[in-house]
Amino acid sequence: MLRQVAEGVLIHRSEFLQSNAIVVQGRAGVLLIDPGVTGDEITCLANDLRELGQPAVTGFSTHPHWDHLLWHAQLGAAPRYGTARCAATVRDRLSDPRGKARIAELLPPDIAEQIPLDLLGLIAGLPAETTQITWDGPQVRIIEHQAHAPGHAALLIEERGVLVAGDMLSDVLIPMLDLISTADPIEDYLTALRLLEGVASDVDVLVPGHGSIGGADGVRARIDQDRAYVHALRDAGVPDDPRIGPSATYGKDWLPDVHERQRQHLARGSEREGPPG
Ligand SMILES: [Zn+2]
Repeated sequence: MLRQVAEGVLIHRSEFLQSNAIVVQGRAGVLLIDPGVTGDEITCLANDLRELGQPAVTGFSTHPHWDHLLWHAQLGAAPRYGTARCAATVRDRLSDPRGKARIAELLPPDIAEQIPLDLLGLIAGLPAETTQITWDGPQVRIIEHQAHAPGHAALLIEERGVLVAGDMLSDVLIPMLDLISTADPIEDYLTALRLLEGVASDVDVLVPGHGSIGGADGVRARIDQDRAYVHALRDAGVPDDPRIGPSATYGKDWLPDVHERQRQHLARGSEREGPPG
């Protein structure tokens, strides 16, 4: 079921991690961002679009993680894009003969069978430094950064006051740092938060990749919350974060482990560097 969150902007919710697919209405069809997770969910979305008489004319993946790279034949054969770095990362992983099998191993076992991998990651990279998605609809500004995953894009639909945040600014997931591809994951994350803060005054509706929709106040509150978490991680403090605290209603079983893994990884990094001087 599609739900309108702003004029001409609708979302379709997947059960897995409260994922949000985003539909932006254009003149001849829609821009579809991160279409969803299971085959049934994406087919349901495809049916909704058919009923609206608005086919997907352009696809976009916010970042190179499997749950943001899916597609289904029912959506048709629209061109699909990501940033240059996002597409290059996907291409690298898929060009490995074992690439898809490795991705399949990452899938949650209870729904793995229901996730359509055939069209996973078939995206083209936009030229580096591209700042807009070219399509026949409202202007969509690309805010690229290196937090969470290489070439991660947040999208600002300025005329509608909507920020599509990808895997940041979630009310259910703590910041998950890119511990593999970047030399300074903390600084990259803080830089990205500053970029998002720079557009916060233009945002009325925040759509995170996972979790609930936020309003204008929510954007600032979530930036502050994510920054406080990253600072705690950097300073080896104990984060006072409701997403992993005793009152957490979501991810109670595994988010503390994610936090612990990030904490240990960064602690190892600072040991390697040794004492200053
Ligand atoms: Zn992700």
